[in-house]
Amino acid sequence: MQPQDFATKEINTWCPGCPNFGISSSAKEALAELANEGKLDAKNTAMVTGIGCHGKIYDYINLNGFNGLHGRVLPVCLGVKLGNPNLTVVGFGGDGDTFDEGVSHFVHACRYNADMTMFVHINQVFALTTGQASAMTEKGFVDGSTPLGQGEKPLNSVLMALELGATFVARGYASDIPKLTELIIKANEHKGMSVVDILQPCVTFNKDYTHEFFQKNIYYLPDDYDRANRETAFKKSLEWDLKKIPLGIIYESDRPSYESQLPQLAEKPLIDKSLGREGINDLFHHFS
Ligand code: SF4
Repeated sequence: MQPQDFATKEINTWCPGCPNFGISSSAKEALAELANEGKLDAKNTAMVTGIGCHGKIYDYINLNGFNGLHGRVLPVCLGVKLGNPNLTVVGFGGDGDTFDEGVSHFVHACRYNADMTMFVHINQVFALTTGQASAMTEKGFVDGSTPLGQGEKPLNSVLMALELGATFVARGYASDIPKLTELIIKANEHKGMSVVDILQPCVTFNKDYTHEFFQKNIYYLPDDYDRANRETAFKKSLEWDLKKIPLGIIYESDRPSYESQLPQLAEKPLIDKSLGREGINDLFHHFS
């Protein structure tokens, strides 16, 4: 398959120069490569998106999926996975979507460690609604909703994912398409909950956290970085406060996935089970 096999004919309405284009290109490159290596079946891959500029990716990538409610990417991903664990499940959310409206879902999804991948487009604002502060907006950021400057410190998403139990925690940069493609492939190959933060500066509504800022402060973790060391990963997650921003796989470990431990799924996927009229009557009887 070719990356363009995953393209759609929808008219793209992202702003010119938006790094979301880089995320979409990297995702299509990665999907094609995974499919060609027999590691992914496009027909058995489900994409779930939330609400925000990131959510438009649903229109631009040709996969089966579900464009859900604000902040509800992860519960839908989990529902799809439990309905049919044989599907590859990928979620796309924004930082507002994931860490404001959806933060409780993020907590439990990391804890459960179901085998699915969550890509978080980090632009540190609610971009679709013209740039209001999100949970990841830096202190002091001024916009229409915070004219005196954002008062609170931002949430550290990598630190959270590590603490909550995600078994693959990584960070990429939307404008480095080859490296981001590689990261998306690795995240999909991982068995368990993968969280990939993607730095995606909003070129229209965030004038503080720009390409210039990130290009000055990002660096790639070296090849000999020990990504199995959780303590080192925690230290790496705290570097954001020092304006040093590590990219790559920050942490990876092995832990049984949520769905692999459910006896209800041991025999066959839920989707292949039929309750029938008798079964439904039994359920009504049981809960009445
Ligand atoms: Fe991209 Fe920002 Fe425009 Fe949204 S508002 S499409 S995030 S540049």
